[in-house]
Amino acid sequence: MTTVAPAFAGRRSFALPQNSSRIRSGNPGMGSTVVTKLPSFADARRLVEEYASTLSPTQPEMLPMLDAAGLVLAEDLRADRDFPPFPRSTRDGFAVRSADVAVVPSRLRCVGEIRAGAPIEDSAITVRAGEAAEIMTGAPVPEGADAVVMVEHAERSGDAVVVQRTVAAGENVVAMGAEARRGATLVARGTRVNHTIVAIAAAIGRPEIAVYRRPRVAVLATGDELVDINLQPSANEIRNSNSYSLAAQVQAVGGDPMLLPVARDEPDDLALLLRKGLETDLLLITGGVSMGKYDLVEQVLASFQAGIFFTGAQIQPGRPVVFGEVKSGERSTPFFGLPGNPVSTMVTFQLFARPVLDSLSGAKPQPLPFAQATLKSDFTSRTGLTRFLPAKLEGGNVKPLVELVHWQGSGDLMAVSRANCYIVVPPDQERFSAGEAITILMP
Ligand code: AMP
Ligand code: MG
Repeated sequence: MTTVAPAFAGRRSFALPQNSSRIRSGNPGMGSTVVTKLPSFADARRLVEEYASTLSPTQPEMLPMLDAAGLVLAEDLRADRDFPPFPRSTRDGFAVRSADVAVVPSRLRCVGEIRAGAPIEDSAITVRAGEAAEIMTGAPVPEGADAVVMVEHAERSGDAVVVQRTVAAGENVVAMGAEARRGATLVARGTRVNHTIVAIAAAIGRPEIAVYRRPRVAVLATGDELVDINLQPSANEIRNSNSYSLAAQVQAVGGDPMLLPVARDEPDDLALLLRKGLETDLLLITGGVSMGKYDLVEQVLASFQAGIFFTGAQIQPGRPVVFGEVKSGERSTPFFGLPGNPVSTMVTFQLFARPVLDSLSGAKPQPLPFAQATLKSDFTSRTGLTRFLPAKLEGGNVKPLVELVHWQGSGDLMAVSRANCYIVVPPDQERFSAGEAITILMP
């Protein structure tokens, strides 16, 4: 059995699960609690989702609809009128009484023309038995008519039109209110605004809509070897790339990233910057959570009386991932300590931080985008951990084929840039053969 079994009734009651705790006793200052088993991937993910479900979203604000794209609706969008507001022709052709064209060819008298958007007086025609009206796509179908014959199936000569095909009642017409009745909820609160929702807002005359404010997400990279990207690294230094990959991931899901300066592997510097980061809605830390002598993040967080929900999960990359929160008065700020290897950082953000960010944004946490593909070549893997290995998917939706990208491990940023998904390796299988179906995780 695993170590996490939370059952959270509400935000306030979210507590460290009974038998889960600090896993690595080796960290200086982490106390002596030792728990033998890390949560499985599924248990760690479930714990995060349960925590996320206890969070309240940020405050709503009114934004112009295009600025709201990517954020989450804080109101229901309702129809301000019937849709369509009149019986709408879906074709260019002739509005007819279907009974008149039950036998074809049928010669009808053309009594007028109705253009889309023409003044309503122009369309105040009544189509009587033996009559038709020329009509355009998007125009209101006149009184008396119950169907539209496509222009391709009719020939006009002078005042007459000869219809060559029958139409059923209702054909090529969308009845008034058939798409939505006035007052109906078209889009529910909690829906992320995409181009479709923007179109709905436009269609109901709402240039501004209420959305939840972008959650502020502090991003703190740690490591003595890191230099900021506008500086020239010396031979023993590397540039900080994680702050930027995380900021991009945060932005992509509607968060507002706040990049803190890189923290040295030194308790006071870390404490100062962690405190700053905890003033936001969510704190993402990268690096400093492994077993090294200078991996001090947990030690410093412990000195803030942080509640730790898990430290480590049975995954690779990202095994040392830490999840917890710091309470201060009424406020509590969740944090993730993401391992510093660039691929670990990206993967653990997607696996664990994303659901928390979804909830803070007012959305239901989205399920992970798993899919199935056929393996292109054999590989073997050690059992014990759920692995997320950079892979290349090709062949489109019809025959998706996937194979591992050659990589040097979770520090190999270049490999992940050649990949477009991850192969999900279950913890209990060693050999994988070309031709077998395998689960992949889309980015
Ligand atoms: P750590 O998790 O601190 O032990 O770091 C693991 C590895 O990731 C080391 O090789 C670090 O140099 C590298 N690393 C840590 N943080 C970053 C960062 N912000 N950008 C790029 N690489 C990093
Ligand atoms: Mg480090």
